[in-house]
Amino acid sequence: MTDYVIPSDGLISLPAHELSRKIQAGEVTSREVTQAFLDRIAETDSELGAFLHVSAEAALAAADAVDAQVAAGEAPASALAGVPLALKDLLVTTDAPTTAASKILEGYMSPYDATVVTKLREAGIPIIGKTNLDEFAMGSSGENSAYYPTKNPHDLTRVPGGSGSGTAAALAAGQAPLGIGTDTGGSIRQPASLTGTVGAKPTYGGVSRYGVIANASSLDQVGPCANTVLDTALLHEIIAGHDEFDATSVDRPVPAVVAAAREGASGDLSGVKIGRVKQFSRPGTQDGVNEVIEAAFAQLARQGAEIIEVDCPNFDNVMGAYYLIQTSEVSSNLARFDGMRYGLRAGDDGTRSAEEVMALTRGEGFGDEVKRRIILGTYALSVGYYDAYYLQAQRVRNLVAQDFRAAFDQVDVIAGPAVPTTAFPLGDKIDDPLAMYNFDLFTLPLNLAGLPGMSVPAGTASDTNLPVGLQLIAPAFEDDRMYRVGAAFEAGRR
Ligand code: GLN
Repeated sequence: MTDYVIPSDGLISLPAHELSRKIQAGEVTSREVTQAFLDRIAETDSELGAFLHVSAEAALAAADAVDAQVAAGEAPASALAGVPLALKDLLVTTDAPTTAASKILEGYMSPYDATVVTKLREAGIPIIGKTNLDEFAMGSSGENSAYYPTKNPHDLTRVPGGSGSGTAAALAAGQAPLGIGTDTGGSIRQPASLTGTVGAKPTYGGVSRYGVIANASSLDQVGPCANTVLDTALLHEIIAGHDEFDATSVDRPVPAVVAAAREGASGDLSGVKIGRVKQFSRPGTQDGVNEVIEAAFAQLARQGAEIIEVDCPNFDNVMGAYYLIQTSEVSSNLARFDGMRYGLRAGDDGTRSAEEVMALTRGEGFGDEVKRRIILGTYALSVGYYDAYYLQAQRVRNLVAQDFRAAFDQVDVIAGPAVPTTAFPLGDKIDDPLAMYNFDLFTLPLNLAGLPGMSVPAGTASDTNLPVGLQLIAPAFEDDRMYRVGAAFEAGRR
């Protein structure tokens, strides 16, 4: 029987920075490395469903270019050169279809690359394929993909989390050592927690959103995913930085996350103050998750950190605020999918008006969850309701940011659970949107406040034997702090 969890030996078991070092040292070629991951995908993905598209030829061509550079004795393009990456199918690429896991974009080919994709290519990172997700990145389980759900490599009857289901599953299964996700309300951190991988959401504006299909523009952020904190940091530095094509990208130096991850690897946290949010201890959290988080705080304290409780009373209102703001922005952003400009066009037989074709296209092209959000958002923004809903939600958003500011007056980093439970069975929550939304409670506050956060593997829950992630949160533009603590925590677990 195939084991779907990443093997403990062989090329595909190695962290990305180690693979890149081997490639530069001539111990192995990028082609061999890339082929090893392609073989693993061929062996496992019909069952896992992590990829919507595998780019074998393009990835091997990119690998050959790296091998030619090594042979010519040229300096590596980056610390991860030659190591393949799984790209969430929400970022546009010229050499593979981009679908956002929606029928409305089936077969769509972009005329340009997302800025992050350009940076990956320049860094010599072969893109091995486009990964599955919840349609337009709306969901918490991966089950909203219009194509097929992704399964959790740790238990094929369970979800890998969402919306970055495919990227997280690919990492956990050893199908790729690097991945890119996007995080609007938790889509990088939550699947990382459920699959036992690392995923970081940078500060809002830290990574370009140019070429990333918009979900909710004021919340969306692209981020790095991997199996170790150092690999995640190395990838973070490659993709981050100002981009003139994204008006919300911030023109300031990229936080020194790699140096921080290396510093953290010593395991010493003396002098570091770590906040524990009172509102994150709540009923409904699985016992096994609570136990792992308790043990994580005990470990951080043993490593020298001072643990301080912080009060964030407005976190109790994040769910309502997020789901009003997110849906409002969705109702505006998704208006462009009208059957006229991209992808699917339904019912255009010469007898129907443009409006009828638009309605038919959207009816056929969008899935239930996307339709639900468009309708919710349109309602929230309508005349007469705007003040009651959208404006109130924006007020809560400010209060959440204030809570964080007050907390960070007392502590350097905040730690806590990323998700209230371990991976749940496929089908468990799909007919209960509210239960699905509630699953995001611990990840949403950061997106409302624009702060960086990451999930680092913290252990296995004793009641389900499934992975649990520790979420680390830092102040805006201090992403390096969470990497330092994350790397120290990771080192302390060994
Ligand atoms: N689960 C959240 C939602 O469905 C977050 C998704 C995301 O981060 N893209 O909105």
